[in-house]
Amino acid sequence: MTENLGTAEGIRVRAKAFLAEHDPAEMGKQDFNDARFDAGLAWVHYPEGLGGLGLPRSLQAVVDAEFAAAGAPSNDADRNAIGLGMAAPTILAYGNDEQQHRWLRRLWTGQDIWCQLFSEPGAGSDLAALATRAVRDGEDWVITGQKVWTSQAHLASRALLVTRTDPDVPKHQGLTYFSCDMTAPGVEVRPLRQLTGEAEFNEVFLTDVRIPDTDRIGPVGEGWKVANATLMSERVSIGSGRASARESGMIGPVAATWRSRPALRTRGLHDRLLRLWTEAEVARLAGERLRQQLAAGQPGPEGSAAKLVFARLNQEISGFDVELAGSDGLRYDDWSMRRPERANFYGRGPGYRYLRSRGNSIEGGTSEILRNIIAERVLGLPPEPRVDKDVPWKDLPR
Ligand SMILES: Cc1cc2nc3c(=O)[nH]c(=O)nc-3n(C[C@H](O)[C@H](O)[C@H](O)COP(=O)(O)OP(=O)(O)OC[C@H]3O[C@@H](n4cnc5c(N)ncnc54)[C@H](O)[C@@H]3O)c2cc1C
Repeated sequence: MTENLGTAEGIRVRAKAFLAEHDPAEMGKQDFNDARFDAGLAWVHYPEGLGGLGLPRSLQAVVDAEFAAAGAPSNDADRNAIGLGMAAPTILAYGNDEQQHRWLRRLWTGQDIWCQLFSEPGAGSDLAALATRAVRDGEDWVITGQKVWTSQAHLASRALLVTRTDPDVPKHQGLTYFSCDMTAPGVEVRPLRQLTGEAEFNEVFLTDVRIPDTDRIGPVGEGWKVANATLMSERVSIGSGRASARESGMIGPVAATWRSRPALRTRGLHDRLLRLWTEAEVARLAGERLRQQLAAGQPGPEGSAAKLVFARLNQEISGFDVELAGSDGLRYDDWSMRRPERANFYGRGPGYRYLRSRGNSIEGGTSEILRNIIAERVLGLPPEPRVDKDVPWKDLPR
């Protein structure tokens, strides 16, 4: 083939050639998506052999459009947001060759749904204080502890897990990062019902769970560094994870209500809607720029700003949404307990959107923590004094 793959036309020709040989109507979904991954058309900015072709990320949109037009099956990206947005870049940056080949194809095709076992009852913003222990036993590690707020754990077959392997050194130094098999004996997942009525997240108890050393990601004692890579990806993933059309976020349903129900309009509301609409559009375009600047898997602290703005706007817009709906906005459609298959910020009515958006300034790092990161790592302002920096973890007050 002579096409210049680094151009939109070149990658389009490659996608069409693949589709000519793989008819989505004739093939099963898994076989089709496996073949797509093997051809490097899953995420073109990933390396060859790992679902990509080492091309600019912006060319993925060309591939996706060709596949959509041909009726190709999706990989249900919404069900595996943590896998695609956080696990994959972490594995790419810190996993070894064998791990990358073992995990990434199953992840991209949705065979494995991933969750994130980071937060604990005593360690949220201060993640480095975590207490879940990993103790070496031959070729395995034995894990004991409790994690909390684990989104999608009820669906996940694999998890990103940070543990404490050395309690005798300062808290950031004694951590080690693993991938945990969620079906292993000793893993117990219990639903946690949230403000919306749903149980999107869970608490996860780990009792003598054995993880082979071959599932350790990165060196022993360097879990903090690996965890930071995951957290940076998380912020980009939540704040500006995917190419999105104008009005596709929280502003979409509000603009639709505004257009379809003129009786609700007032001049004051009009002014506010225009301001929010403009801010949402600026945030969308800024997110697009951020995404295009990223090399595969390596976001920096700048992603924190996108996540911060995302949370603020979602909360403001959903407040406006409730107000615009008048007395209807006070009704809540359905408070049944569900364990949803995907995080859904914009589904259902104004009441749901309003309540769900409260979590946006907590999940993936609270807005206060993100402001600290922007201050220290983007603007270079003096850091917060950290009195516990040199104290062994086991001697810290609890
Ligand atoms: C919808 C949702 C989904 C989630 N999914 C997951 C998941 O899948 N996996 C996972 O591991 N976790 C998950 N989390 C947990 C989330 O990461 C934590 O809730 C978050 O990191 C905050 O930790 P915390 O709840 O312990 O609050 P705390 O850390 O106790 O914070 C309490 C308050 O103190 C403020 N604060 C704390 N430290 C500072 C500081 N140094 N400076 C200024 N203010 C500070 C915080 O901003 C916050 O307002 C999820 C949370 C939500 C809401």
